[in-house]
Amino acid sequence: MDRIEKLCADKGMRMTEQRRVIARVLSAAKDHPDVEELHRRAVAVDAHISIATVYRTVRLFEESGIIQRHDFQDGRSRYEEASGEHHDHLIDMKSGKVVEFIDEEIEKLQEAIARRLGYKLVGHKLELYGTPLDDRKQGS
Ligand SMILES: [Zn+2]
Repeated sequence: MDRIEKLCADKGMRMTEQRRVIARVLSAAKDHPDVEELHRRAVAVDAHISIATVYRTVRLFEESGIIQRHDFQDGRSRYEEASGEHHDHLIDMKSGKVVEFIDEEIEKLQEAIARRLGYKLVGHKLELYGTPLDDRKQGS
């Protein structure tokens, strides 16, 4: 059983074979796939999985807190496992590529801002949008 399948089992979710395939595809994803991409990957395992099933399943997983949805301003919701280590995202506006990063200074700064405003920081979401400085470095 992979991580997402196990989380579903722990939450007492009824797992159909198709849900299992979608859970495995999500667990294996190293990127931030949208529903269409998840559907492409799921169909490669089981040709009978419909896009509607993928939509319903990711919604169910999201509502259960198993996966996280991101809206990177391109009109497509993207998904990733929620239990991963905290990180922020930079979105390449040219290619749509999503780059993950962690910056200790930013983390500390956000905590300091919250504290100054009278709050204990419990979470944050940071998205940077950029275009590549040097096209030749694309794909490296
Ligand atoms: Zn991410």
